[in-house]
Amino acid sequence: MSLYVILMGVQGAGKGLQAKLIEEHFGIPQVSTGDLFRAMRARSDDLARKVQDIMASGKLVDDETTNAIVVDRLTQADARNGVILDGYPRNQAQAAFLESHLAEKGARVNAVLLLELDLYTAFKRAFGRVTDADGGSYNYYYNADGVDFAWTNDDSDCFPPRLEASLRADGSMLRRRPDDASADAIIQRIDTYLDTTRALISHFESGGRVQKINADQRIEAVWTDIRQALESL
Ligand code: AMP
Repeated sequence: MSLYVILMGVQGAGKGLQAKLIEEHFGIPQVSTGDLFRAMRARSDDLARKVQDIMASGKLVDDETTNAIVVDRLTQADARNGVILDGYPRNQAQAAFLESHLAEKGARVNAVLLLELDLYTAFKRAFGRVTDADGGSYNYYYNADGVDFAWTNDDSDCFPPRLEASLRADGSMLRRRPDDASADAIIQRIDTYLDTTRALISHFESGGRVQKINADQRIEAVWTDIRQALESL
């Protein structure tokens, strides 16, 4: 039997991290549209450049481009038994497209896990987030162990201070996503979530497929709730 799971929740709710745990435990791959778009950074064609500009602003990439990249990923061999969708669908048109695509394969969305988090915490999780080269995640506000953080003022006084972070163990610099470093891009993403993505909850609720998970807990506790929700399907 195939398993198609949608992880929903405002940015910073921990979708990416939990998707990795589901992937390891249930053996179905994480499909993150944000990661797929970020991977396009290595390309220099017009579409790739346009996508990077849209991402930096915190706005959504157009549905046609987004749906095409998802279908391409869903038809790869490792996705034949299902996937965990992280960051997709984000609006009604994408949800309708996904459902008809799955119906053509005789599959359906089995569960929607809604990771609930208050918006102030969501802001801090995004604004304070940095990652190392292996994908390890740290946070200025919540998880600063082993990391040296510094606010560096702009010499011209025209721009806000930059948050710089390095691993104490080896001095390597940590990376901050451009759309996390801009407060405006974070607010834009939260607004899009409230205005557009959140409406999908009632869309999927009508099919009784939404399970609410408290995302304001330790990673292990969130994971326990998610595992139980998926095992009860
Ligand atoms: P994320 O990593 O999920 O926060 O996504 C980062 C950025 O990628 C978003 O702010 C959008 O610009 C773009 N993006 C990711 N998923 C989608 C989607 N389903 N539809 C449109 N744009 C998306």
